[in-house]
Amino acid sequence: MTAVSDAPLKNPAVTVIGGGLAGSEAALVLAGRGITVRLIDRKPGSMTPAHSDKRLGELVCSNSLKSDDPATAGGLLKAELRLLKSPLIALADTCRVPAGSALAVDRDMFAQRVTDAVDAAPYILRESAYAEDWDADAYTVIATGPLTDGGLLKKLTARAGKALHFYDAAAPILSGACIDRSRCFTADRYGKGTGDYLNCPMTKEEYRVFYEALVSAKRAELKAFERSEIFEGCMPIEIMAARGYDTLRFGPMRPVGFVYPDGKRPAAVAQLRRENAAGDMYNLVGFQTNLTYPEQRRVFSLIPALGDIEILRYGVMHRNSYLSAPDALDACSRLKACPKTWVAGQLSGVEGYVESILSGHLAARHLVDTIEGRTPVPLPEVCLSGALPRYLAAPNPHFRPMNANFGILPPLEKRVRDKRANQQQYAQRSLSKLKVVLNVLT
Ligand SMILES: Cc1cc2nc3c(=O)[nH]c(=O)nc-3n(C[C@H](O)[C@H](O)[C@H](O)COP(=O)(O)OP(=O)(O)OC[C@H]3O[C@@H](n4cnc5c(N)ncnc54)[C@H](O)[C@@H]3O)c2cc1C
Repeated sequence: MTAVSDAPLKNPAVTVIGGGLAGSEAALVLAGRGITVRLIDRKPGSMTPAHSDKRLGELVCSNSLKSDDPATAGGLLKAELRLLKSPLIALADTCRVPAGSALAVDRDMFAQRVTDAVDAAPYILRESAYAEDWDADAYTVIATGPLTDGGLLKKLTARAGKALHFYDAAAPILSGACIDRSRCFTADRYGKGTGDYLNCPMTKEEYRVFYEALVSAKRAELKAFERSEIFEGCMPIEIMAARGYDTLRFGPMRPVGFVYPDGKRPAAVAQLRRENAAGDMYNLVGFQTNLTYPEQRRVFSLIPALGDIEILRYGVMHRNSYLSAPDALDACSRLKACPKTWVAGQLSGVEGYVESILSGHLAARHLVDTIEGRTPVPLPEVCLSGALPRYLAAPNPHFRPMNANFGILPPLEKRVRDKRANQQQYAQRSLSKLKVVLNVLT
C-alpha cells in the first residue's frame, strides 16, 4: 500500500474502503468526531471503468446534484443534509455553477475540495491501494460503489450470499396517486397471486401512438463498457420495441391471461406492480429503460391510465453492483453477517449521488454511536434521511436500488388537491422534525 499522506496515525479506529461520495463523506464525518480513519482508495494506481479523475469525490457522470428546492425530494434531501452538517454538501455549495433551481457543481473544483478536505483532516490517513478483502473483526465501512469488482466483490458475495446483484436495469417507479384507476383494473395474470397488479389496457390506436413515441425517443448516453456489458443481460424496453412492432405485445405488454369484462382483448396491456406495503408506489413492469428522464415522462404518459404520470424513481441502466439491502443489511446499513462492517453508498442499495452522500453520512453517525457505546438510532421516518434507510431494510422480494422520493415517506395527514402544496407539507414536516431531533434553533 502506498501512503499518500503521512498523518501521524496509530491504530486507526475505522477503515473506510472507497473514497467516492459515500466514503469521503463517512471519513470526514468520523474524523470530525475525533475518530481516526484509514481511508483506502484504489486511485490513482488503478481506476474503475467509470472513473477517470485521480482525486476523491469524483462525479462519474452528470455534474448535477438535482433540485435545490426543498419542495422536491432532491431538494429536501439536501436541506436535511445541510441540517446534518454534511461535509460534502457544504463543499458542493462552494462549487456551484448556475443551473436554475438545481445544485450543479464544477466537478473539478468539487473533487479538488473533497480531496483537500480529506488530506487536511488530522485524523485521516489516506492510502492508495486496491482492496481485495477486509478485516471483519475491525470497524470498516465498505463504500466502493457500483463498480466494485475483483477479490472484494468475491468476498462480499461469499459473506452476503445471494444478496449481491450486478448490472442494474431498473424500470421507473410511479406514485400511486397519479394512476387513473378508471382506466385500469386490478388482476394478476392467469389469476395467480394476490392482486398486486394494476393493468392498463391500450387500444390499437393508443398502442400505435405509444410505440412510435417509444422507438423515436431520446436515449441517455452510456459509457463504452456499459454498452457492451449491460445490453446482453437486460434489454431496455425501447431496444426491445425497435425489434418489431409486435415484440412488446408478445413480451411485457402481452394482453393475455386476463378475463376482460366486455370479452374484447385490448391491443396491449402495461402492468403496474405494487412496490410497497402502503400501495402508494408502483413499478412499471418490464419497462427497464435508458430513455432520458424527460422522455420517460413524455412517452410513458401516453399509456392511457398514466396521462398524469408522476415518476418517483426514473428507470436507469448502468453497471451496478449492489446488495439486496433487506437481506444483507440491518436498519443501520450494517452487514448482518459481519456486525463490525457497514456498507455505504450505491453498494448499499441507494441510487444517486446525494443518496450516496447521505448513506456515507449515516454509516459514520451510526459508527460513532457504536464506538462511543450508544445504540445507533435511525433518524425520524418523516425525514428522507430516516425513510430511505427504512425502505432499504423493509422486506422486499423485488428489491432494486432506491433514490429519495416522497413516495417513501409516511402519507400526509391532510393531503390537498394541489401537488406543490403537498410537497411543501412533506418538506415542512420533515425539516421541523429534524430540527427538533438535532436540537437546531430556528
Ligand atoms: C456510469 C454511471 C453513471 C452514473 N451517473 C449518475 C448521475 O448522473 N447522477 C447520479 O445521481 N448518480 C449517478 N450514478 C449512480 C451513483 O450515484 C454514482 O455511482 C455514485 O458515484 C455512487 O457513489 P459511491 O460513493 O457509492 O461510489 P463511487 O463514487 O463510485 O466511489 C467508489 C470509490 O471506491 C473506489 N474503489 C472501488 N473499488 C475499490 C477497491 N477494491 N479498493 C479500493 N478502492 C476502491 C473507487 O476508486 C471510488 O473512488 C451513476 C453510476 C454509474 C456507474
